[in-house]
Amino acid sequence: MSAVSASPAPRHEPLRNDWTRGEVRALFELPFPELLHRAASVHRENFDPAEVQVSTLLSVKTGGCPEDCGYCPQAARYHTGVDATKLMSTEAVVEKARQAKAAGASRFCMGAAWRSPKDRDIPKVAAMIREVKALGLETCATLGMLSGEQAGALREAGLDYYNHNLDTAPEFYNEIIHTREFQDRLDTLGHVRDAGMKTCCGGIVGMGESREQRAGLLQTLANLPAHPDSVPINRLVQVEGTPLAGTVELDPFEFVRTIAAARILMPRSMVRLSAGREAMSDELQALCFLAGANSIFYGEKLLTTGNPDTERDMALFQRLGLRPMQIHEQGDNTHGSTVHADIVEAHAIDGQARPCAA
Ligand code: SF4
Repeated sequence: MSAVSASPAPRHEPLRNDWTRGEVRALFELPFPELLHRAASVHRENFDPAEVQVSTLLSVKTGGCPEDCGYCPQAARYHTGVDATKLMSTEAVVEKARQAKAAGASRFCMGAAWRSPKDRDIPKVAAMIREVKALGLETCATLGMLSGEQAGALREAGLDYYNHNLDTAPEFYNEIIHTREFQDRLDTLGHVRDAGMKTCCGGIVGMGESREQRAGLLQTLANLPAHPDSVPINRLVQVEGTPLAGTVELDPFEFVRTIAAARILMPRSMVRLSAGREAMSDELQALCFLAGANSIFYGEKLLTTGNPDTERDMALFQRLGLRPMQIHEQGDNTHGSTVHADIVEAHAIDGQARPCAA
């Protein structure tokens, strides 16, 4: 019998930041139908389960990254065929933002493959943020590690959200990344919170970690000083040329368990399917929605009309009776839009979402 005995929390029950590893492990070990029932119950106590947020991201600077994240095709040291680009001009970014708005987005996320922005980059990104904001869009960014001053400057420019992932469990971190420490991630998240921005923070599963380590990732996320507003749960996209190519694929049911546990631990966060979703069957995605996922990632596809993948998503929504999330308040958080651009930790390369924890 599981050590987790609590039935689903009633609406507006205070959020917990004191989950033990044993409690999280026990969630993973529940019989699959019981875990899904609990997660679905928590989901509907906090959200309309028929609504799914739709998110997109513009990669404003792709590839050439000095970090060594084992999953990432944008790391300069791996030969993945990704060409490094320079930072896009503000004009080009604003044009993409206009397109996103015309497609119905209310929020626009800009991602750059940097270890951290240089101080000289901040005014350029700040200009993008100001101009995107002037279009009437919410703004978000994922730029790598930030100092307190940089976070303050981005907030000052009007940045609403910042994405920065924990990647994996603290005890598995050094198996995947050697060019920074887990504590660096926590420090940046602290700077983002201190600057008054909302956080988007999750990780990647299927990188060879154990169930215990998946529990460790979720435990760390749920015990942050504030639950992230958005929690992207990525399924590794194996890219030829990266160290993690050829890794044994994660059991799809284990992925659903991870989604369900995230929903229970962080009841009022948006739990997002992002990188790796394109390779999932419709049935697996449906199970994820049942388990409490309520946000999906489109990459830059939203900016391309008539995209077959986008049409597949809309057809799936229709078959499942789901609809894009509308603007409404969720507790302290403002979520949603008709079609919505948001923070993700993925870059769209060659039309496919690639995980990036920048
Ligand atoms: S995940 Fe981000 S930080 Fe890591 S190598 Fe890729 S672009 Fe760089």
